[in-house]
Amino acid sequence: MPEQNFDLVVLGGGSGGYAAALRASQLGMSVGLIEKNKLGGTCLHVGCIPTKALLHSAEIADAARDSAKYGVTATFEGIDISAVTAYRQGIVQSKWKGLQGLIKARGITVIEGSGRLTSPTTVQVGDTTVTGKKVVLATGSQSRTLPGLEIGGRVITSEQALELDFVPKKVAVLGGGVIGVEFSSVWKSWGVDVTIIEALPHLVPNEDEAISKQFERAYRKRGIDFKLGVRFQSVSQDENGVVVTLENGETVEADLLLVAVGRGPVTQGLGFDEVGVAMDRGYVLTNERLETNVPGVYAVGDIVPGLQLAHRGFQQGIFVAEEIAGLKPVVIEDVHIPKVTYSDPEVASVGLSEAKAVEKYGADKVSAYDYNLAGNGRSHILGTSGSIKVVRVVDGPVVGVHMIGGRVGELVAEAQLVVNWEAYPEDIAPLIHAHPTQNEALGEAFLALAGKPLHA
Ligand code: FAD
Repeated sequence: MPEQNFDLVVLGGGSGGYAAALRASQLGMSVGLIEKNKLGGTCLHVGCIPTKALLHSAEIADAARDSAKYGVTATFEGIDISAVTAYRQGIVQSKWKGLQGLIKARGITVIEGSGRLTSPTTVQVGDTTVTGKKVVLATGSQSRTLPGLEIGGRVITSEQALELDFVPKKVAVLGGGVIGVEFSSVWKSWGVDVTIIEALPHLVPNEDEAISKQFERAYRKRGIDFKLGVRFQSVSQDENGVVVTLENGETVEADLLLVAVGRGPVTQGLGFDEVGVAMDRGYVLTNERLETNVPGVYAVGDIVPGLQLAHRGFQQGIFVAEEIAGLKPVVIEDVHIPKVTYSDPEVASVGLSEAKAVEKYGADKVSAYDYNLAGNGRSHILGTSGSIKVVRVVDGPVVGVHMIGGRVGELVAEAQLVVNWEAYPEDIAPLIHAHPTQNEALGEAFLALAGKPLHA
């Protein structure tokens, strides 16, 4: 049986796994990276990147519709799905090629095939035994469904939604979280009728409630239909379409049902149990230094309970490589990770919601300021509305920033620095923001919380 030996073996070449491999090789380790499908994983091939390409196409469609408002003569005639597909695939292919080149340039050995953990230091890939002094598990996640709801035919996951070679007329979307609202946004801009079904009382239910409510108003205004606080009961399908029946007896008819009820870890049948790795409902449990209960075996990315985001996976990958190298990196906390919901409007946040801050510090110790983007020149020019809410501890630091509006995801970097560095509004209020930018809205909110509102 062939054997390959490395300092580090990484099982799974997605955001978490390849980041661990890149950083480890930079730190002088020999690395074997095992991937059964394509380097880059979910994010590059069927997640972050291709969906953002669709969203950009959607933005262009909206721009064409709205062009007269800006003095441009253009008309929206429709979507050429094969051209959209070529554009989307072109972006993915080019990033994929770049990643493969980088992995090769760093001297990382890629082992193609499905790996199975057979001991704390070995992974079996076909008839090859891959040995590492340390092992990182990074096998990622896959779309989940509900009991009794089978994927197939007109009932699809996000992966099939990406690959559609036609623009449907009407889609029902089960789940009003990030993935559900992202596809809804694209389809609506492409002229599709969309109905979202969400069991919780709000769309984007993990965001600050005030932001979720604004988001709902914006979606209603766009003509996206949604049903909140109601559970799915059953679905039937035939050659004409799907009929979704809800628990309250209502029905939704559509061409397709997108199931976007979250993603579950890919950990079954991979030997983790047999080697004694502690797990909870399929997720791999780790300590705060991302080591499992089996010494020398680490886990990163979507298989670790918490936020399922590519940038969390990247950072965890870097973290474990540095941890293994003995560099003692700073522990990553989910509350400090920025989140963006890509849609029209966009939602971006970092830190505690107002409700969570009140829960943690007490109502009299928390104050929040809401800056309406109507007062921001650049937002006005761009035709976007929304708001920026900053939550602080009274006489203390900013603990949360919550934003809604066009491209607010680009503003979350500043918010993240402020929250992570536990800055006080008084300290950051004098920082100068370029005019006219949307960033100024953050500056205005900091000024207001420091007791010096300028335009409010
Ligand atoms: P993955 O990227 O899933 O990678 C795991 C890899 O392991 C895969 O390549 C898989 O083939 C491989 N693998 C699994 N088992 C084995 C095995 N036994 N042997 C060998 N290889 C194996 N996140 C964001 O931050 N921003 C976004 O905009 C965003 N948009 C998204 C949109 C969609 C539609 C989806 C589905 C997800 C999105 N995400 C987004 C989430 C993001 O894609 C994930 O958080 C991220 O990919 C997780 O990285 P990972 O390394 O843990 O797992």
